[in-house]
Amino acid sequence: MQPRRKTRQIKFGDDQHGYVTIGGNAPVSVQTMTAGYTYEIDKCIAEIHKLTAAGADLVRVAVPEKKDTEALNQILPQVNVPIVADVHFHFQRALEAIEAGVHKIRLNPGNIQDHTQVKKVIDACKERHIPIRIGVNEGSIIERRDKKKRLKELGGVFSDNKHGHFLAIMITKLEEYLDIFQERDFHDLVISAKSIDPVLVINAYEEISTRFDYPLHLGVTHAGPKETGAIRSVVPLGHLLANGIGDTIRISYANDPIYEVEDGLELLYVLGLRQRVGAELIACPTCGRIQVDLFTLTQQVRKKLAEHIKLPIKVAVMGCIVNGPGEAEGADVAIFAGDRRGIIYVQGEKVANVSEGEILDRLVVECKNFEDRVNRGEAMLGEKVVEIQPPDPIGDLGSGFDKIAAGDVEQISAPIPLKISKPL
Ligand code: SF4
Repeated sequence: MQPRRKTRQIKFGDDQHGYVTIGGNAPVSVQTMTAGYTYEIDKCIAEIHKLTAAGADLVRVAVPEKKDTEALNQILPQVNVPIVADVHFHFQRALEAIEAGVHKIRLNPGNIQDHTQVKKVIDACKERHIPIRIGVNEGSIIERRDKKKRLKELGGVFSDNKHGHFLAIMITKLEEYLDIFQERDFHDLVISAKSIDPVLVINAYEEISTRFDYPLHLGVTHAGPKETGAIRSVVPLGHLLANGIGDTIRISYANDPIYEVEDGLELLYVLGLRQRVGAELIACPTCGRIQVDLFTLTQQVRKKLAEHIKLPIKVAVMGCIVNGPGEAEGADVAIFAGDRRGIIYVQGEKVANVSEGEILDRLVVECKNFEDRVNRGEAMLGEKVVEIQPPDPIGDLGSGFDKIAAGDVEQISAPIPLKISKPL
């Protein structure tokens, strides 16, 4: 991991909606956007609440029509997270959203041709200390009619880069936009330069980070459904963040935006850029040794832990006791399943041997008990790890599953020498 790049810092929000700081040494924030119509007030409020509960630090709403900005007057008093108004084409929507009390504006100056209109938005934001994100998405910076001409004009700027043409256009456009803001001495800015192409995203943000010190909003636009969009998004965002670039992120899926929040947070957790809230779940991929329905169990455990556990307890769900102990290394709580049963360990100590149907509830109880002990100062996260000597799974000593089925679990933790009669 590279140290975070130094950027300017912006802060926005209020007592009711909370405050968010972006840039400088502030934690990388996670944002998302509502998928429904803003003018459907109750549904919009419900969606914002759902995304806030999932951990979104700020939520963006689209305001394409006047009825959307009018709805903000009712939405804002009923939500408790900073709200960003997403403005395209109509500068009036930005002015109305500012009047309604939004906390940040997302603007693409490229689709507001009249710069005097952009300046009106800048002045209104300046007066109320509202920051603006300037977005230069690949799809919106190139006018179709003059695309060929622009490519010809700018093609040589980054000749050693296969994405050079687009990159050059992005940088040039960004500089044009920034001139408008700098002319008004407005610097409460966040910059984004999104593309559908992950490699271009990496190139664009790396280039921008060397040229400007404004905080950067990372994202891959139109990444697709979660199933494929996750890879498309996480690869460039993870690369940039690991190299110290990026101050706020939005993962975009053609799915319920709650997944954008969950995956954005998980990305920051695994990179160590945010302190995890809630349990960390490890699970084995299963193999031919599996004797419980581990896929279903893992999903059930994930949901229950999200509902009940607040501390970053490391929980392992392992399909068997063959490789499980090694793979669950470092877990505070672990379940090793086998032969329709499961044995549960808490920091290396066996606490239960239950039937498959009881595994879920008992595991959650043990996690909750452990969390309570940590909260009372009687235990520490990561203090002891799961230490189990695995039995010989195949050789003369017989199957570990047999031992679990017989309730003979003490032998499982006994120091039985590992003897493998054929390769695993
Ligand atoms: S823990 Fe057991 S069931 Fe799961 S992948 Fe490893 S060997 Fe297979």
